[in-house]
Amino acid sequence: MMNDHAHSPFSGAPAAAPLYASHRKIHPKAVKGRFRRLKWWLTAVFLVLYLVLPWVRWDRGAGLPDQAVLFDLEAQRFYLFAAELWPQQVYIMTGIMILAAVGLFLATAIAGRVWCGFACPQTVWTDLFVWAEALTEGDRGARIRLDKGPRDGAYIAKKAAKHALWLAISAVTGVTALLYFTDAFGFVADAAAFAASPLVLGWMAFMTVSTYLMAGFMREQMCLYVCPWPRIQAAMLDDDSLVVTYQGWRGEGRAPLRKDQNHAERRAMGLGDCIDCGACVHVCPTGIDIRDGLQMDCISCGLCADACDDVMTRIGQPTGLIRFDTQAAQAVKAERRAETPAVPTRIVRPRTIVYALLLIISGGLTTMGLVLRPTADVAVLRDRAPLFVTLSDGRIQNSYTVKLSNMTPQPQTFRLTVAGVPGAAVTVAGGGEDAAPTLTAGPDRVETARIHVRAAAGLPASTPLTVTLTDTATGRVHSAGTVFLSP
Ligand code: SF4
Ligand code: SF4
Repeated sequence: MMNDHAHSPFSGAPAAAPLYASHRKIHPKAVKGRFRRLKWWLTAVFLVLYLVLPWVRWDRGAGLPDQAVLFDLEAQRFYLFAAELWPQQVYIMTGIMILAAVGLFLATAIAGRVWCGFACPQTVWTDLFVWAEALTEGDRGARIRLDKGPRDGAYIAKKAAKHALWLAISAVTGVTALLYFTDAFGFVADAAAFAASPLVLGWMAFMTVSTYLMAGFMREQMCLYVCPWPRIQAAMLDDDSLVVTYQGWRGEGRAPLRKDQNHAERRAMGLGDCIDCGACVHVCPTGIDIRDGLQMDCISCGLCADACDDVMTRIGQPTGLIRFDTQAAQAVKAERRAETPAVPTRIVRPRTIVYALLLIISGGLTTMGLVLRPTADVAVLRDRAPLFVTLSDGRIQNSYTVKLSNMTPQPQTFRLTVAGVPGAAVTVAGGGEDAAPTLTAGPDRVETARIHVRAAAGLPASTPLTVTLTDTATGRVHSAGTVFLSP
């Protein structure tokens, strides 16, 4: 069953809709049930992780940050427990993002917008803000009455308490976001001494205000108008994806349940199990009526299923009038007008196989990239003036600046050699004519050194030259190419 007014992922082109609709404030009603419980558990896990991670320490050795998760923008490093990523290793971050995207595709193909309904930060923080709203202003009915009522002292007190709580949550969120980019304990010490930089305070204020606006005021507007995912996810869904559905074949026709009526009488009158109580609509965080069919506005949070299950239990009818189900199963049940025998969910199908394979491939490549990532990086820059020097013994000398990055938490020593130029010898500036010159780099440091390469006269004007640094401890080789110029 599709809603003609919705941009259905299954129905091709979206139906014509007005380009502008004035904002309608949504007052979601509190609900109890298994999906609500699951959402609270997940919210608790995500919030604890978010709040605690910046305080977790990880010993990387002297001189290196000991924060387990740290985006050190100043030093251009990303620390993730034992892994330390440099800007040159951006491909690993790209791999992680591809992995996350493909994981999302697979989850969507199997179970619809479960990410949106259960794990998206916008959902998690909105849930938290709605909880704060209910705590200070009461549940849906009380909030509606408050908004329609007089602007008296009680109104002001409740609104002030709500906004104070929202601001407190936003401030904790803003400060915590900042802690992922700076040393957490150092920031607290700076803040206590009123020594935090304006840039840091500005970033914190930005995150605080963003949270306050997005979770307090924009809420479902972010999902409906800002986030691109609802449009994209339609491409991942098919008739075998689990989505939140109203079992219309069982629910229709709708009519309130009269006290003097039993279910057999309702059936005889052509009525279904839906008693048109509106509970499913009142709990919906995006304010839609799932009975109108699958809609792009539905974030698959399952709260309407909880609300309807509660109603069905109270009126003595089987639960599951609103449930996670596939469009394919819906069609079969509608035809035979019965739940049983159960229609199996086809989780393994070409689309999910392709996404699973992509997940395995991208996961394998990212893991390989992480495990085999280089422990050092070398870049060579040739002197531009003079291009070369003719020495007193007739040999030609070119000079270069070597930039050596030690990407490990231990000091590294490298043997310096060159190749490609016949008879060439290399020395480190100020190091004498050492037959086996070496370069050393401290832990997690970028060192620069000047080197000279000397070769007999008579070479072509430009000869390719390879500068190689060999780790004396592990034998790992790091090379960079340049040219050797002659008269
Ligand atoms: S229709 Fe149901 S599942 Fe969809 S957003 Fe509303 S409450 Fe959540
Ligand atoms: S909660 Fe269930 S019974 Fe009530 S209106 Fe929604 S579908 Fe019908």
